Amino acid sequence: MNSADDRRNVRAGHRNGGGTVTGFVHKGHSPHPSLDDSLEGEIRAFLTDEDQLHTYDDLTKVNPVTPTTVLKCLQARYRVKVFYTHAGCTLVALNPFQPIPDLYSLDVMKEYHCASQPQEFKPHIFIVAEEAYRNVQGQLEPVNQSLVVSGESGAGKTWTSRCLMKYYATVAASSSVLKSQDTVERIERRVLDSNPIMEAFGNACTLRNNNSSRFGKYIQLQLDRCQLLVGASVQTYLLEKTRVACQPANERNFHIFYQMMKGATDEQRKEWKMSHDQRFVWLPKAEKTIEEDCFHDTVEAMVHLGINAEKQRQIFKILAGILQLGNVNFSSSTDESQPCNLQEQSKDFLQRAAELLCVPAEELQLCLRVRTLKAGKQSVLKPCSQAECSMRRDCLAKVIYAQLFEWLVTFINNSICADKSTWCNFIGVLDVYGFECFQINNLEQLCINYANEKLQQHFVAHYLRAQQEEYVSEGLQWSFVKYQDNQSCLDLIEGSPVSVFSLLNEESRLNRASDAKTFKVRLEKELCDNVNISWDKFSKVPHFTVAHYAGKVNYQIQGMVEKNKDPVPPELISLLQKSENALLHQIFTDREAENMTSKGLSKVTVVSKFKNSLESLMKILHTTTPHYTRCIKPNPDCKPLTFKKEEVIMQLEACGIVETIHISAAALTCLTLVSQLDLLEDQRKRILSQCAFSIQCCWLRYQRRRRQARRQSATLIQAVVRSWLVRRQVQRWNRAAA
Ligand code: ADP
Ligand code: MG
Repeated sequence: MNSADDRRNVRAGHRNGGGTVTGFVHKGHSPHPSLDDSLEGEIRAFLTDEDQLHTYDDLTKVNPVTPTTVLKCLQARYRVKVFYTHAGCTLVALNPFQPIPDLYSLDVMKEYHCASQPQEFKPHIFIVAEEAYRNVQGQLEPVNQSLVVSGESGAGKTWTSRCLMKYYATVAASSSVLKSQDTVERIERRVLDSNPIMEAFGNACTLRNNNSSRFGKYIQLQLDRCQLLVGASVQTYLLEKTRVACQPANERNFHIFYQMMKGATDEQRKEWKMSHDQRFVWLPKAEKTIEEDCFHDTVEAMVHLGINAEKQRQIFKILAGILQLGNVNFSSSTDESQPCNLQEQSKDFLQRAAELLCVPAEELQLCLRVRTLKAGKQSVLKPCSQAECSMRRDCLAKVIYAQLFEWLVTFINNSICADKSTWCNFIGVLDVYGFECFQINNLEQLCINYANEKLQQHFVAHYLRAQQEEYVSEGLQWSFVKYQDNQSCLDLIEGSPVSVFSLLNEESRLNRASDAKTFKVRLEKELCDNVNISWDKFSKVPHFTVAHYAGKVNYQIQGMVEKNKDPVPPELISLLQKSENALLHQIFTDREAENMTSKGLSKVTVVSKFKNSLESLMKILHTTTPHYTRCIKPNPDCKPLTFKKEEVIMQLEACGIVETIHISAAALTCLTLVSQLDLLEDQRKRILSQCAFSIQCCWLRYQRRRRQARRQSATLIQAVVRSWLVRRQVQRWNRAAA
């Protein structure tokens, strides 16, 4: 076990005031009587006293560990406004859906940071933060850390990541630390300022979360030899760019558009060619008006990061151009040999869009209405149908927005990333979309759920398997909890030679007109033996069902191949390359050209790109010590302090928390007991002589090791003893009752 693990276990042991470890129990011996007496009260408490449930700061203390008892404990804690609970090696965070005064204040940060044993404090995200911070140093050599924050949409992942970043920006600030809030400056300030920018451009109000991140994010906080924060770098995943041109019912576009609408000065409005009462098709109003008053914060953050006034102008003009584009509509054409016309009222919008994007209006119009087909050296012009015109318009908006977002991320990285020679370790914070299962699921959900499968596998591999294997190697007879190994599901999705991804890519490459049909036929034929996939042959909507670790999800086949190809007509790209908006020109000249084939198909499909970026993320995660935080959304309506059992239990199941607790309880084994039991030497001997092999094994371990390890072994013994006592006591009570 490395030093990081040691630390983790010691911490867990302090919390673990005697979870039962029935796996170690051996029957038929009688313990020392005085022990019985001293334990009786406690045993009774943790078997029967539901009133005390809220005091259990670690779910491993709940007995027995079942979904129901775990749920009860979390509910009891939520009722008394306690939002964090350990679950062995994982932290469970319940979303209060209301600001909790002083929960994250500077003083609280200070308390956790300065404590000699923060793990003895109440469970808090700062414990995880501080633990990772101390672990980074390592005892022998530094170990990079990863904080993996997971949960479904609205559960609190982004909030938690922000808290973590603030914590490090404060405790690891290179400027004078912990004096006042204002000291969070310079690089720390800039790192924090990346949040409002990325949230403005990447978050939107959805049905499930008013401030829902529509991209995944992994941020590495770079620390120097003295463990001061000297920089950071951000990697983003799979921005939901379709939202720019198509917002699901009752949802909204990205925040930045609303911020502009609300926060613009008259001068800016004029420049952006929008009046106060202008209606934009792509800016649906939802009932809630959230996150739109922040225009000035966003701009201020941009300034801090070095995005100068001229660049800002270029950015906002591009965004304003996109909005105008959304109001452009085409009339249906009666003559197929003629392109569709612009609707009369759209002409102005097209003109303005062209001006804002700084491209010639006629050319823009032509690109949207006419397709250029290349046949050898000759090109043939083909008029587009009304639907095709709209598709091209949407495509233009999406590709511009996505590239702008990427440019921003690159800019942010250039602004906050420290020189490699100045930092030596990092703490990574991962905030990715949780498992998704809607009525209709498509390629986006497949990618998201695939990412979650990967993370789950990492979790299982790291904690559960490692711990169980250690027990076995120690000769401890822990009855194996059956954990789900999801390798077969991952093989189905990404494996070779045949998997959903491989078939999808092949169909995308072949670029056939009937791809949805052939994709379906091939899935059914080539994956028919796989137990993780199934079909409902009678369903009207063609789909396939994947059995994920967190549940079954139906994926609609229609449109999947097209989404994977993500084609951008080359005419649109060349148009943008001609733009006189320096930024637009730059982003399309730099990147797009190299990524595109002559047919406008991206050289890399969506799933290949996603798979590659996920693989590099997993590689990084594997080199770090991970810390898992599971955010739970206590009710679907984001109501303050409302706990819906059905909602929570589903999430507990989806992340396998009960299994985790089982193993942690046994595994973390039991670390504090000796001090609590306060055994005399002869008592200890007596117990040992009466207990079975596993205890003796621990005893040997205890004698062999020094201090910290010794404490662990000792507490293991205690746990064994205690669980045995509990059993015996229960038997006694049962006998008495009979
Ligand atoms: P996710 O990123 O998981 O989709 P968010 O982090 O955006 O979810 O959280 C959704 C909302 O829940 C936040 O906008 C905030 O209002 C609320 N929230 C989340 N965590 C907390 C917390 N610890 N304290 C108070 N409110 C919170
Ligand atoms: Mg989020």
